[in-house]
Order: sequence, then C-alpha cells, then structure tokens
Amino acid sequence: MKKLLLILLAVSLLLVISCQSSQPSQSSQTESTQTENLQGKPWINSNIFGNWPSNQPALEDGFELSLNYNLYMKALSENKYIDDFYTQSGEFQEKKIKELIADTSKTSDELELIRAYYSLFADFDKRNRDANGPLLDYRAMITKTENVEQLSEEVQKGLVFGNPFAIIKVDNASNDRNKYGVWIDFNLPISAKLNSDYTDEDMANVKSYLVYLLMLAGYEEQMATDVVDGIEQYEIYANQMDKEFMEQTGNSSDEIVITSMDGIREFCTPLYDLIKGLGYYSEDGDPVCYNISNAGMFDAMEKMYMDDNLEILKGIYVCSMAEYAMDFLDMETYMSMYNDIENIEDLTIDEISYDFITNYLKGAVDQVYLEFVLPEGLRDQMITLTKRYIAAMRDRLKNETWLSEETKKKALEKLEKMVYVVVYPDDWIDYSELAEIVKDHDQFLLDAVLCRDDFYRNYMTSFLGKDVERGNWVFSDTKTTEANAYYIRTENSINILAGVLTDTLFYTDSIETVLASVGATIGHEITHGFDPGGSLYDGLGEQANWWTTEDRENFDAKAKKMADALSSIYLSDDITVNGEHVLNETVADLGGLVLSLDIAKDYPNFNYDLFFRTYALMWYSISGEVEDALERFSHDNHAADYIRANFTLQMVPEFYETYPQVKEGTAMYLAPEDRISIW
Ligand SMILES: [Zn+2]
Repeated sequence: MKKLLLILLAVSLLLVISCQSSQPSQSSQTESTQTENLQGKPWINSNIFGNWPSNQPALEDGFELSLNYNLYMKALSENKYIDDFYTQSGEFQEKKIKELIADTSKTSDELELIRAYYSLFADFDKRNRDANGPLLDYRAMITKTENVEQLSEEVQKGLVFGNPFAIIKVDNASNDRNKYGVWIDFNLPISAKLNSDYTDEDMANVKSYLVYLLMLAGYEEQMATDVVDGIEQYEIYANQMDKEFMEQTGNSSDEIVITSMDGIREFCTPLYDLIKGLGYYSEDGDPVCYNISNAGMFDAMEKMYMDDNLEILKGIYVCSMAEYAMDFLDMETYMSMYNDIENIEDLTIDEISYDFITNYLKGAVDQVYLEFVLPEGLRDQMITLTKRYIAAMRDRLKNETWLSEETKKKALEKLEKMVYVVVYPDDWIDYSELAEIVKDHDQFLLDAVLCRDDFYRNYMTSFLGKDVERGNWVFSDTKTTEANAYYIRTENSINILAGVLTDTLFYTDSIETVLASVGATIGHEITHGFDPGGSLYDGLGEQANWWTTEDRENFDAKAKKMADALSSIYLSDDITVNGEHVLNETVADLGGLVLSLDIAKDYPNFNYDLFFRTYALMWYSISGEVEDALERFSHDNHAADYIRANFTLQMVPEFYETYPQVKEGTAMYLAPEDRISIW
C-alpha cells in the first residue's frame, strides 16, 4: 500500500516534469502536420498536437480553435508545448517555492522548518554514511522483547511505524458521519495476494522482498528467511479464519463496529496496542466509533498472539518499519523502491527533495507560499466573488420554473449549507509546535519524518469523537499551491485553491476577464452540488433524496439530453465522446458559464466579446499526440477542453447575440430547441 503510494507520488512527479515542456516525437510530429485526418465533428479536435488546419478557422466554425489558433501555431513552430495553463501555473508555484527555500534573506517559522527538512532529505552524503543505522535503533526496541507482554508494552509506546498489520485512519464515523471516527483495515505483509492469482514466481518475489526488508533492519539472512516462511503460514491461517468468520456471521462484508477501547482490547490485543500507541482514541474520553474491515483477519491475529509466535509477530512489525523507512535511508535503498519507474535516474536530488517537502509538509509549504507570494487582499477579494456566485445560484434556483416549490426549498437549503474554503481555511495547523519537537530529533531524516508523522496524527486524532469539520484541508489532503479547485460531495464544500490565482489562470484586468476565468471556476464548483451525481447528496454531504419524483424525472431527462448531445460529438474520425462519463463535469461547466453571465447583467456596458474570448483562452490545451490524447480523453471525466469551451458556449443566448456570424449551417450553431439548460 505504502510502496504503491510512494511510487504514485514519484510517477506524478515525473508526469509534471514531462508535461511542462513536452517534446513531441519527431516522426509522429511530421505525420500529424502533414495530414489533417482527425476531423472530429462538429469541430476539429484542437487538443491533439498538430491536429490543426493550415489556416485559422473562422470563429463560427470552431470558437476555441479559432481564438487560440496562434498559441497552437506557436507550439507547432517550437515543436514543444505547455500542456495547459494549469500546468504552467503549477510550474510557477514550484519556481516560487524553490526560490523561497534558497533565499535566506526571507524567514519564518514554517520556512525554517521546510529548509530543515529539505536539507535533511537532500543530504545524501550523510544518508549514505548513516546507511540503515537510523532504522536499527527503532527495530531493536521491537526485537529485544522476550514475550508478547513486553512486545505489547513497546507497541503501546507508539514505536512502530508503517502499517504493521492494520491500516488506520480518521474519517467520518461509520455510525454517525457527522462525528469523526476510526477506520481500520487489515494489512498483510505478503498481502491478500494469497487470494489472488499469484504465480509461484510472484510469491517467491514477494517473499524475497520481505527477506530484503528484514535484512535491511539488521536480520541475518537465515533468520529472515525463517521468519518470512512463518509469516506466510500465518497469512494462510488468517485467510482461512476470515472465511470462517464470514460463514459464521453470515456477514459478507466482514465488517464490525466497536465503540470503546475496552471492546477493542477484548477483540484483538495487538490492535489495541497499536491504537493505544498511535493515539487513535479521544483524550477527552469521547466515545469513538471503530469501523473494522476484515474482522476475521484480526481474529486470527488475536489467536496467534502468543509467545510461540513471537518471532513471526516481531517480523511483521519490523517488515512494516523497514518498508516505511526505505525512503529515508541511503541512496541505494531509496532508489531500489523506484527501480521499475522509467527515467527515475534523470531526476535530480533537488527535484526529489522538493517533491518530498511538498508532500510531507503540505500545510507548511502552503503557509509559506501564502505569506511570501500571494498578493495581499486576494483572499478577501475571492471570498467576495464566491459569495456573489452563491447569490447568483440562489437566484437561479429561486427562479427555476421546472422545479416544484418543495424541491426548490430543499435545493436552496443545500446551497445555504454549502461550505466554501477560499485560498486557505480559517483554522490551520500551527507548525511552530512541530518546529519545536523536531529540534531534538533532527539527527536523522527518519527521526524527523517520524516526528512529522506524530505531529500530523496528533492533529487528526484530536478530532476523534468530535463533530466533523467540513472543509478541513488536512482531512481532504488539500494543497493550496495546486492549480485546482474542487467540490467535495460528502462535505458539500467548494474549495478554491491559491494555485488557480496566478496570472496564467486568473485575469484580474477587468470584470469580464475575472468572470470568464476564476469566476466561471467558482460557478463550476458550486454547480457540482447540483449535478446529476452531486444532487444525490444533501447539505451536510449525506446521501439523501431531496427530490420529488416528478422533479427528479425532469432533471434526469434534461441530463440525458445533455449526455446524448455530448455522445454525438466525434473526438476523431471514429471515436465519440462518452456522454454519460463526462456528464457531471459538463453540467458544472455550463453552470459556471451561466452564473457568470447572470452576474454580467449587473454591468451595463459589459463587454461580452472580451468575456467569451477570455473564456475560450482558459480552455487552450494540448493533451498530447493522437494516441496519448485519445487515451487521456477516454479516462477523463471532463470532456476534452475544446468541447468544454464550444459545447457550453453553444447553449447560451448571449453567445449568439455577440457573434451574429454564428448562424444556421455553421459548426458553432445550435437551433434554439436543441440548446440545453440544466440550471
Ligand atoms: Zn468539476
């Protein structure tokens, strides 16, 4: 699990790097500039590299391509391109943060903290000298124990790390989603691979990986091999117990709920030790709900928790600790985690160190960015704008003629309960505490990382048993420096991150450009609360049907009309859009656009041409060459960007009023009866 996560981090890092200035391959570039064979319908797919006509099309033939034609031609002549403005914006944050780290004339608690972690991570000379030393001390606390009682004592001190046999996290409680509770799932070292179609060779590979981990933690090879054989036997037993547990209880999900620490102790001693050690309980004594999956596996763990199995038990803990530590030891060990990733050796130490701090010290990096980079007053400006969009949505809902008063009331209630977090949340973690703690534990990178883990976990567990805080960015793992904005259904929250407020994505020059750029984004996120998927949740983020049957039928019919219209669009000669797949996002796009146009009505001399041009510019993007691009479109639940621009513009009367040349027979034209309005 952990390894997969880290690999994914590394992969996304690679993607960011490769996308920033993608170099189309020579051969297919020639091919795609020579032939314009992917016409698409009704518009040319401009998001495929090189798939552009030799002359600029008229705006009525494809608005987005016409407006962004010169940008595409620039990419073609330079034979490289910026993926889209989001990528460019991401590049901007990265540059700024790196500058701040290097610029020692700037200082703050968070900046010092980031620098400390950055240099610990980047100091591979020291890491190579220390080798596996930092791990050995922790491991010794476990291996020195002589019976399960002693082992329990050590685990209760919170010494273990990784996910020894359980993955534990804090989230909305399963018995009351308005409270925080604990979710526990089982984690086997060899993992559920026993249940799957693993070949003997695969099994041998996993086992030799575990032997490697134990040896990294200082085990002799023979001892490590014996312990891993023991772990395999234990897993066979655990799987069998799990099946029996399900048969006995007739419970196919194999899930149980326990609501007290005493209950946990009775159910599974080592799980109790782990929870106690890591602090997954309420300090104030509030009742906490523990939702446990794979209960039969924990039952097996409890049954084998005896002195006879001591070495296997220790081995399970140590494997988990060693696997977790791999990222923070010497270069060879570090690289061995990523050896199946292409081009990993091309990454510089600076790049991986930057990746490390942005992932491990998220909130601190955010705070530094906001303090030193973000223009003052921007957050207040954005909050005002967000409130304005919420007001526009309120008016829209009130004036809907196809909704019954009953459903309308519910929809308005949901809107009033919507939480919005703009640029940064009101409550944030105070990192000065971590700076204090880490001062005494900065000898090794691993020590410092474990301090950070404790610090984050203490923050999270302090919420246990308490009311859920919707819009808390630590729980949603939000990084404000990301160029993104999103709606979370299960919170009914919209989140507008500072990353979308750089000048590549946010045009402050005039009301027209503001409404077309970040304004439309805010409107998009609000509309997600009322898209076909989002509208199945209520104001507190609970799944609920607040619709009358008739209203829902009407809504579904409108949505189906949109999905069908999307499905009729050709991405290439023979591939069409999957309308159902991109429906929620397109409903949100249209919502963002119409809310912007509602607000525009407050400005007597509103320049619609400027507004629409800016809107089109927002959707400039190149998804790659033919194959890559088509592959991306098939997975993405957003329509291709040229469609996101053209399709939504076709639906609004202001577009036709502004551009009379868009008339019957042109590709941008849609007959009034075919235009779709959802909200
Ligand atoms: Zn969206």
